[in-house]
Amino acid sequence: MIVSGIEGDTIHLHIGIGQLDPRHIALIPLKYQNEDVGVCGLISREPFKRDFASLEARNFIIQATPFIYNALIMKRLEVMAAIDELTGVLNRRFGLRRLNEEFERSKRYRMPLSVAMVDIDHFKKINDTYGHQAGDFVLKTLAGVFTSNIRVSDLVIRFGGEEFLLVFNGASAVDAYQIMEKLRVNVETMRLQYGAFDFKVTFSAGVSSFPSDKVSDLPNLIHQADSGLYKAKETGRNRTVISA
Ligand code: GH3
Ligand code: MG
Ligand code: MG
Repeated sequence: MIVSGIEGDTIHLHIGIGQLDPRHIALIPLKYQNEDVGVCGLISREPFKRDFASLEARNFIIQATPFIYNALIMKRLEVMAAIDELTGVLNRRFGLRRLNEEFERSKRYRMPLSVAMVDIDHFKKINDTYGHQAGDFVLKTLAGVFTSNIRVSDLVIRFGGEEFLLVFNGASAVDAYQIMEKLRVNVETMRLQYGAFDFKVTFSAGVSSFPSDKVSDLPNLIHQADSGLYKAKETGRNRTVISA
């Protein structure tokens, strides 16, 4: 498609090298093996001299499309490799890689870093009573609650079956505790509806923080969060316990 004779002040494009006010735009659909890859826009101050079909650019675009397609596929694969399919949060492998980066950053800049290990209470009973799909629904719902109530710089990781690891950058143990308590009350007061079922769910959490006496490396940090979670379960569930 070619759009010609655009009035002087109609379209301004801001690109790296400055502003362009195109008068003529050619939009060329990019297709690869019958799949829509995107659209390439050619912009010009002067009218395109020849019909699009004979534009030199067309050859270039045809040759470039497979590379653009590959780059898009690579990006899609990267996202797939990082994300837990059921819940849409980071998977364990990629999440731990990101946490490791955050931990190193926190060490370097002497910024606190806290994590919370979260485990759903009596989750087996939810599966047994309402079915595995209702269980999956609970996992998705909680992942949604966590993601929408934390900062973009924080991380939500599906750590195991019904365990999540939350990472709070720049947060002390007390900060993380307060965030977790807010989330915990939020979930505790929520009614979940799945099909004909109407039920509630709670979780327990263990919080640990770096730097602290008990935490000098990343395995320590996770281990301490785990022992906080263990205490939370032992002392009645539906609570947050700081262990370091
Ligand atoms: P607790 O309060 O002590 O944590 O009890 P619990 O029943 O939650 O703990 P337990 O570890 O015995 O049960 C975890 C259950 O989580 C067992 C497993 O079948 C279920 N589970 C793990 N992954 C998934 C999943 O992806 N979907 C569903 N629906 N269930 C899962
Ligand atoms: Mg568990
Ligand atoms: Mg559990």
